[in-house]
Amino acid sequence: MSELIKQACDKSYEAWKSFKNASYATRKSLLENIATEIENLGDELIQTAMEETNLPEARLSGERARTCNQLRVYGKHVTDGYWAAAYIDTAIPDRKPLPKADIRKINQSIGPVVVFGASNFPFAYSTAGGDTASALAAGSTVLLKAHPAHLKTSKLVAKAISKALENLNLSQDIFIHIEETDFSAGKALVQHPNVKGVGFTGSHTGGMALVKYAQEREEPIPVFSEMGSINPVVILHENYDDALQMKVAQLAGAITLGVGQFCTNPGLILMLDGPVLEGVAAQLSEAISKSGVGKMLHPGIEKAYLENYKTALSQKGVELIARSSDVDLPGMAVVAKTSSENFLSNPKLHQEVFGPYSIIVACKDLEDLLNVYEHMEGQLTSSIFVEPGRFEVQQVFVDVMSVKAGRIIVNGVPTGVEVCHSMVHGGPYPSTTDGRFTSVGQDAILRWVRPVSYQNFENEVLPDGLKNANPLNIPRLVNGVWTSEGL
Ligand code: NAP
Repeated sequence: MSELIKQACDKSYEAWKSFKNASYATRKSLLENIATEIENLGDELIQTAMEETNLPEARLSGERARTCNQLRVYGKHVTDGYWAAAYIDTAIPDRKPLPKADIRKINQSIGPVVVFGASNFPFAYSTAGGDTASALAAGSTVLLKAHPAHLKTSKLVAKAISKALENLNLSQDIFIHIEETDFSAGKALVQHPNVKGVGFTGSHTGGMALVKYAQEREEPIPVFSEMGSINPVVILHENYDDALQMKVAQLAGAITLGVGQFCTNPGLILMLDGPVLEGVAAQLSEAISKSGVGKMLHPGIEKAYLENYKTALSQKGVELIARSSDVDLPGMAVVAKTSSENFLSNPKLHQEVFGPYSIIVACKDLEDLLNVYEHMEGQLTSSIFVEPGRFEVQQVFVDVMSVKAGRIIVNGVPTGVEVCHSMVHGGPYPSTTDGRFTSVGQDAILRWVRPVSYQNFENEVLPDGLKNANPLNIPRLVNGVWTSEGL
């Protein structure tokens, strides 16, 4: 383990010992300050990210706004206090046959966490992205492993975080930027005894490597890896009419959005064989052929896309429907087609082709379609396109989708992940390593906390959230009733 990593983990742990007790208001101020300091970086940040990621200005400006909004949202969420799940069960000294003790419980930070910056979101899931923001909100210190594809961008954001810590007179070790760019650095971080949790967005191989490192530790720790999925879209329309055409136009846009480099990219379209499928395939073919060729994030992703798309197209029974370039170019959009039989018998076709690629699977009847869906692995999302009022068929699919997916969408595309309380950006393995949690939305904070019970305490020694007077003014479950009143 490099001396630098060791020192960073030790410093992070020391800083955590006091940051875990920082008031909710201080954590909120920190998150808001980071947002302001990121905005203060101005055009330099956008220009640097453009140079490093090939992403266009409008996308990056939007992503920066989303990132700053996320930071402020988590700030408000901390002081709102629901996440703390503060429960108070007061004593019943005269209970027979035995007295009941005063027991109170509240969520607290698990400790320092390592966050791996994601290549496809240089702001929103990187240095000051959702994992970092939710971890700081929870009272965890953060060791940020910068993604090598946008190191300069990451350094600029780290500078903004450092400034925010300085503005508030907080320890610089609450957030430590790790710039070493090889796997041994990531491994050393995950395996350091002072690290208590890991957040990751990226490839299945990378995400599972981190799980393995964590399991090799003397004390295993949770690894929250979001590893993407193929996000099936089930088209149940009985006619190729105007309503369906509008949805297919959205679908074509979702396949090519951001050169397909989203974990919610719709990579699979399931529908019945026949005239409706022919209409959809022809429309997608036209839209995809004209969609142009975008520049992908980095050479590694370009190479992987070309290899994966070629592998998919070379499988038995796979037919090319459309491509946006006559010659193989990274970033060209591709739509293919196969039968349900081929799909079911070939696991290679179930794998994510990270980029603007989607495959239509032609099914024989509804039973066959359901069977194909049921053979899918865990997914971040699953979508249904259906006419209004067809409740019975919707219900059948929703029932199986709620087992496989984190988010189910009716008559909408899976791209575009809203940051809100009700969002689930997660799902059963292999879309993530822990389908009980989300990495987007306020509940992402729950990955970084654990409940602690305080039994028989004098009021003065309790954490603020559990004190009789409720100085934090948070909602609490007192003897089974929700209230913000003091005791
Ligand atoms: P990646 O290869 O998974 O790498 C992401 C981060 O994890 C990097 O910082 C990398 O470390 C680290 N890492 C990966 N494997 C590791 C290992 N064995 N030990 C230690 N650290 C490891 O992802 P990427 O570079 O962003 O893109 C590659 C592929 O990932 C894409 O083609 C795509 O298929 C997939 N991807 C998926 C999503 C998604 O939405 N889930 C997002 C982005 C990419 P270093 O910094 O040391 O290289």
